Amino acid sequence: MIQRAIVAATVMLLATIGAAAAQGRLPVFDAHVHYGRNDWGPYPVAKVFELLDRAGVPRVLASSTPDDGTVMLHRAQPDRIVPILRPYRAGVTSGNWFNDPDLARYLEERLEAGYYRGIGEFHLFDASSASTPQVKRVTELAVERGIFLHVHSGAEPIRRLFAIEPRLKILWAHAGMSEPADVLGSMLDQHKQLWTEVSFRAGSINPGGIIDPLWRAVFERHPDRVMIGTDTYVTSRWGDYEGLIEEHRGWLRQLPRPLAERIAFRNAVALFGSGDRAELQE
Ligand SMILES: [Zn+2]
Repeated sequence: MIQRAIVAATVMLLATIGAAAAQGRLPVFDAHVHYGRNDWGPYPVAKVFELLDRAGVPRVLASSTPDDGTVMLHRAQPDRIVPILRPYRAGVTSGNWFNDPDLARYLEERLEAGYYRGIGEFHLFDASSASTPQVKRVTELAVERGIFLHVHSGAEPIRRLFAIEPRLKILWAHAGMSEPADVLGSMLDQHKQLWTEVSFRAGSINPGGIIDPLWRAVFERHPDRVMIGTDTYVTSRWGDYEGLIEEHRGWLRQLPRPLAERIAFRNAVALFGSGDRAELQE
């Protein structure tokens, strides 16, 4: 039994090496990482960078609760971390941030650091939570500074945000999480300033290891609007970080190499820069 497992593992390893040799391992720009307080003990900053190295991830978008996690990563390797400012902190959560009376002051103060490229990732559960004065102020801050909003929501709150402020640039987390590929496709058709990352969607994109034709059609129609994400929202996901990236490489490999490269890193580099990481340059 053990021997059979070893043979199977060896065959799999050889297959992986074969595929990597045929194509070269795609570098991945991970557009959805969190480094929350619970992660700091088990995964000190140096360990996080080791995990990124091992997974072939030269650059990430990071946001954290509290924001200090993002600052620690950015301070350690500024060329590798694109900081996104999260509104969440003590007492301010996914369920109440959009009504937080202190929100504008908090965000404005931290944005003074100058290195944040977005506000998020934040949750909007319905169109009404997207319609508060606090959220309106967030849209103004984003436009004033030319930075992104990283939004976890269904399609309706995204429509509301663009109705409030059409000049927004939105990175739609999890491709809408539970929205099907055709809804994603029509949202990208309608909103030219909407991009997406597909954390949590590998199972839907690649059921049974074969890429779904509806998803493939979205990627082909919008080759410059999709990015990869993992979403390390709980500590256990750092433990499986390389597996999460490999899950995405499993469907990327089924696409023509130029398209796979755009989704894996070129789109994110075009929006957020390479941070002078050689792996992401020509
Ligand atoms: Zn999310």
